Formats: sequence, C-alpha cells, structure tokens
Amino acid sequence: MREPTEFDLITALARPEIQTLAAYQSAAGSGGLRLHANEAPWRQDCDRSRGGLNRYPQPWPDELVGRLAGYYGVPGEWVAPTRGSDDGIDLLVRIFCRPGEDAVLLCPPTFGMYRVAADIQGAAVVEVPLDPDDGFSLRTRAVIEAGESSVRLVFLCSPNNPTGNSFSADDIETLCSDLAGKALVVVDEAYVEFSSLPSLIPVIRRYANLAVLRTFSKAHALAGARLGAVVARPELTGLLRRVLPPYALPTETIEVALRTLDEAYPEVLTARVEGIAKERARMTRALLELDRVIEVWPSDANFLLVKFDDAPGVVERTGREGVLIRDFSSSPWLPGCVRISIGSAGQNDRIIGLLQEVANG
Ligand SMILES: *Cc1c(COP(=O)(O)O)cnc(C)c1O
Repeated sequence: MREPTEFDLITALARPEIQTLAAYQSAAGSGGLRLHANEAPWRQDCDRSRGGLNRYPQPWPDELVGRLAGYYGVPGEWVAPTRGSDDGIDLLVRIFCRPGEDAVLLCPPTFGMYRVAADIQGAAVVEVPLDPDDGFSLRTRAVIEAGESSVRLVFLCSPNNPTGNSFSADDIETLCSDLAGKALVVVDEAYVEFSSLPSLIPVIRRYANLAVLRTFSKAHALAGARLGAVVARPELTGLLRRVLPPYALPTETIEVALRTLDEAYPEVLTARVEGIAKERARMTRALLELDRVIEVWPSDANFLLVKFDDAPGVVERTGREGVLIRDFSSSPWLPGCVRISIGSAGQNDRIIGLLQEVANG
C-alpha cells in the first residue's frame, strides 16, 4: 500500500460520512436528443439564455471551471465553483465539522457568515480577536495556540470585512504549516481585487490545508448571479465536488460568467478597480476633514471603516435621506464604527455632502 501523503491528510480531517459519501448520479451527457431527464421540449418565450432554460445545466460546468482556472492561474481540478462564496463557507463547515464535536476559529471583528454557518452545523466557535491597537492585525501566535484539537477550520478574511486591512502572506503561511494535518486554513479573498497585496492562490501549491475563497459579487459586479469559487488542492475540491448538489449553478449564471471572463476582461477590471482606489483615497481625505469623524482606517477593499462620535445618529440621518451605510457600533469590537461602501463618484459626493450637513447640524 502507498504511504499517505500530506495531501491525503486533508481528506482524513473531513467528517467520516463525507469521506465515504457516494455522490448522486445525475442525468449525464449533453447534446443529442435529451429524453433522459424529464425536461420540457419547449423554451419559455422570455428565455434569453443560450443553452435553453428548459434544459438542466451541466452537472459540473466544465467550460466555466476551465475559464475560472485560467483566470486564477491554477489547473481545473483545483477549482470548485459555488453559489457565491457564502455557499463555499457553508460547504466547508459541513464537510469538516461534526456537530457538537468540532469547532471553527474566527478572528473578530470579521464577516458574519462564518459564525452563521458554524451555528447552522452545530459547530463550536473559538474566537481570537484581531488586535485593535495594531490596525486589526492578526495575532498569529494566539491563533496557533487556540488551534486546539477540536478546531477543524480557521477562517481568515483578507482584506478583512469590515476593517479593510489585509494580513501578511508570511503570517498565513506560518498558520498553514503549524496547523498542517490538524486544521484547514480558509482565506476569504472576497476583496482581493481591490488590494495592493497579491492573492494567496499561488501558495496553495505548498499547503494541502489551505483553501482560498473567491467571489464574483464584489469587484466583478455579479452579486445577483451568485457565483464564487473555492480554490484548493484537488483532494479538497474533490470533496466539494461530491457534496455540491448536481446542477448547482444556474445556466444564466454560467453564461454571464463566461461572457464576463473574455480576453479583454483583465484590462477592464484593472481600470475599474483603479477607479475605486482613487475614489477610496478621495473619500478618506474628505471624511478626515469632518469634525465628527474620529478615525478612518486604511482600506485594501471597496469600503471604509469610519469611527464617528455618534454613529447611530449619523446612520439614522443618512438613512432618512435614503442613503444606506452600515452601522457596526453595537459590535463590542467596533464602538462608534460605520462601514461605507465606495460607490460611483457621484454617489460618493452625495454621501460626503450629507455627512457635511450632519456635521454642521
Ligand atoms: C461579500 C462577501 C462575500 C461574498 O459572498 P457571496 O456569497 O459570494 O456574495 C464573501 N466573503 C466576504 C468577507 C464578503 O464580504
């Protein structure tokens, strides 16, 4: 028998039921006369899709997976497409955490879905807060020490929502190597396109226990299409492939993603992201001039975390004018804090103008 490699070990961390799960056998095959899936033979008049919405999509969308793999610079077997990255978070918790036994580790303040997914699964949550006195940096040693035997997943969001900062690749690699064989490190890169730091995807080559989550909901402007991806070694994406329901991605989602990811797209994306970075810098300067603003944190993302002297009052005033910003001031980690997304130049002028009025009135 072959000795297990370190890459096999990641599958050994999965719930035993998942390791032995037999995937559903879907109606395979495309083209030809489809009389094997009980589909309708007619299309709806309003159906604008290429493939026809009367037909099931491919159980595993190979063409999209190939395009995503090209975009992320990895082999196709390293990509599992998901229904937004929320789906990836949920699937990973379900694959790795036995209810009542295993735990996930979070570094608050961070994205809320990690805890929701853990709560749904009945997994415990271990918290190692970010350091608020050091720009919400990662307390790497504390994470490793807290990575006790029951922790199966460590969720890191980089750039972090809602604080906007990125974690250092060296720190994340330290976590991956210290937790090898014990826990999976999941790096949520929902905002990495806006960051000055590169993606951790190239690092996956070295760590079986590293998974990177990507989404089309932010820089790619397709939040309504619900598309994300888990990028990881094939041993891990193989588990995801077994757990994902067949036909998980709708035909329209697959088609719009294929149309988006054409040859010209990287340039288009770069220009748009640069536009957001410029507006982010302009917004930061404008906010810092307001009397009621106490702090604006540097951001690697398409939002700013801002501390006001009266956050609930500010959010209420802007809300009355139909401008929605997110109040985090009731979070124990974020007293007085509000998160403001960077919009178009005109939208940003509007919120700045409103905040100037609030400051004066
Ligand atoms: C917005 C966001 C996502 C995206 O979730 P989708 O399900 O892909 O829309 C994932 N992670 C973080 C941290 C986010 O802020």
